Amino acid sequence: MECNICGSTEFLPGFNGRIANGLPPMCRGCRSVERHRIVRRIYLPLRPLLDEWRALQFAPDRSVDRFWFKEYLGSSYGGENTIDMIDTGLPDGRFDIVISNHVLEHVRDDKLAMAEMLRVVGAAGVVHLTVPTPTYRWETIDWGFPDPKVNEHYRDFGADFAQNMVRHFPGLACAAVVSFDPVTGAGDLVYFFSMSQDTLGRMGERWNRHAVPLTRVF
Ligand SMILES: [Zn+2]
Repeated sequence: MECNICGSTEFLPGFNGRIANGLPPMCRGCRSVERHRIVRRIYLPLRPLLDEWRALQFAPDRSVDRFWFKEYLGSSYGGENTIDMIDTGLPDGRFDIVISNHVLEHVRDDKLAMAEMLRVVGAAGVVHLTVPTPTYRWETIDWGFPDPKVNEHYRDFGADFAQNMVRHFPGLACAAVVSFDPVTGAGDLVYFFSMSQDTLGRMGERWNRHAVPLTRVF
């Protein structure tokens, strides 16, 4: 087993001694866990497209490499130049892709955040989202406050996540991509939303060539 981010073959238990599928999930080299390596696997086939893309990432992590992109900006929560997901202050279409792994569950109004991210990527851009538990829960539960018992999350997303977003924003389409962690075998869904069927189609071609399973949600 080799980490697909740093190449290390040594792994440690995760936070609080967590084990995944009977295996230690955290890379000793780069500290990545399952979800980072799953995203990495999905992005590798996209590399030829990324050269031309300007990326904004909320909560930068090891899942993507900033040097893949034509331009990259990371916004760390509580950092010096934190960007508010609901009110970024950025011009329309400033970026080609917004990347957000496990952030939306911390945002008070996920639809307002989505509207803002779609504005920032413009008509041809892409919003990449991963959220906790869409593969384990049927319907989204939103309790409306940051619950300290669940890492200050406002909600648990369900399998209805992409459908709810697509219904809320006329013209929005979604490519839901499945991949698996090369270390533990854990699976996850990564969502790519866009107003452009053409952009998602070009990404779909790349995944198709590399046998990455793709589901299209209107
Ligand atoms: Zn690693």
